[in-house]
Amino acid sequence: MPKTHYGTRYWLDRHAASRRPSYPRHRGVLQTDVAIVGGGAIGCVIAYVFAAAGIKVALFEAERLAQGQASGGTGIVVHEPEPEFHKLVAQHGVRDARHIYQTARRGSLEYVAAIKRLRIDCGMQIRDGVHVATTPEGIHGLEKEAAMRREAGIDVAVLKGSALARKTGMDGFGLVTHGNASLDPYRSSLGFAKAAAARGAALFERSPVTRIRPKRRHVEIKTAGGMVTASSVVLATGYPTDDFKPLRRRFAKFESYVVLTPELGAPVRREMTPPELILRTAAAPDQWLHWTGNRVLFSGADQSSVAERLKARTIIQRTGQLMYELSVLRPVISGAMPEYAWATEYSRTIDGVPYFGPHRNYPHHLFAFGAGPGGLGLSFAAARILLRSYQNATEKADVPFSFVRIRE
Ligand SMILES: Cc1cc2nc3c(=O)[nH]c(=O)nc-3n(C[C@H](O)[C@H](O)[C@H](O)COP(=O)(O)OP(=O)(O)OC[C@H]3O[C@@H](n4cnc5c(N)ncnc54)[C@H](O)[C@@H]3O)c2cc1C
Repeated sequence: MPKTHYGTRYWLDRHAASRRPSYPRHRGVLQTDVAIVGGGAIGCVIAYVFAAAGIKVALFEAERLAQGQASGGTGIVVHEPEPEFHKLVAQHGVRDARHIYQTARRGSLEYVAAIKRLRIDCGMQIRDGVHVATTPEGIHGLEKEAAMRREAGIDVAVLKGSALARKTGMDGFGLVTHGNASLDPYRSSLGFAKAAAARGAALFERSPVTRIRPKRRHVEIKTAGGMVTASSVVLATGYPTDDFKPLRRRFAKFESYVVLTPELGAPVRREMTPPELILRTAAAPDQWLHWTGNRVLFSGADQSSVAERLKARTIIQRTGQLMYELSVLRPVISGAMPEYAWATEYSRTIDGVPYFGPHRNYPHHLFAFGAGPGGLGLSFAAARILLRSYQNATEKADVPFSFVRIRE
């Protein structure tokens, strides 16, 4: 049995450091239309979408591109945003909840379509997503969810009884969406960065932005190696940096955990969830299961961020718990140890909906913060909303993602 690589992210480990693309450090003085701070999953897609729209873009990443949350993700692109529709309706009303769902769906479809069009090599497989509940309480919750989505005109297919058992091997109730995807999130993000560079975007790594100062008509940005002047700056750092401390109260930091099994033999594979499915359980916190090759990836066990000194011990505890939960879901996996087990920190907004757009206290700034567990698909939603804002063409459907949706 292979030993478990605790704290090692599979997506990075399978790429020799020498094969990872590298971009220069920023040095000197630079003038651009739009400066993007943060080269994660979202920053890379924003750079691509702005550059493809003919805008002069420069992106500054403090460390290496896509080695933050993207390389620690589960690797699924799903149409549903993380908060359930009925919860969004309770908080924001039917119209805004519908906008959030439709924007998220359009974003994930665009993400998948762009990967195909740009021929990004990230092992993408198109899959059905099943959100499944097996307990009476969970089933009741998902039935209510299905009814509310239908009432609001949001497409949703339902599976139960023998149809669900045939598709998933489980008894209960499921909501099905088509056209989701499994992929390598590190390679997909790097692919968008490469496509941005091919359209003229200047990309800089190991170039932390240390200060941002708005002027009357532009923004001045200080990096570790120089100065940048831009007409607008996009903050795609996941969580507000020191210059934006007042915005931090809108976010909470969490840690989520991922386990990856060794390659599973055919008898075990037959008893597991079919490989063409992405499974989301109705457990709280959410659990996600999908396949990469002959291995199963399972994520969940989210909790508030833990202190640095406790991280190593917590990974062992929480991923052990995850393997146990996986074996409850699929008993055939009982006794198996993960080959990889890691943790990733992320920030989430209070209502689970990210903030994409401007903020009245920060002229010439656009923000993309708190994408949460669905950040890959939402990256295109973020890029389109910010591009429209930059071009003064904001649409009604963009407002539920803005800072004004919750009063400060
Ligand atoms: C365990 C886990 C599993 C997940 N699985 C999935 C999944 O399967 N599908 C999905 O869609 N989403 C998933 N997500 C969520 C998804 O990974 C995130 O929403 C997404 O990666 C967020 O991207 P980002 O660019 O906003 O943030 P980040 O990836 O955090 O990128 C921000 C970047 O900004 C840089 N930065 C910060 N400060 C500065 C500075 N001062 N100057 C320059 N650069 C700076 C950082 O170095 C970093 O690279 C998962 C998240 C977790 C935690």
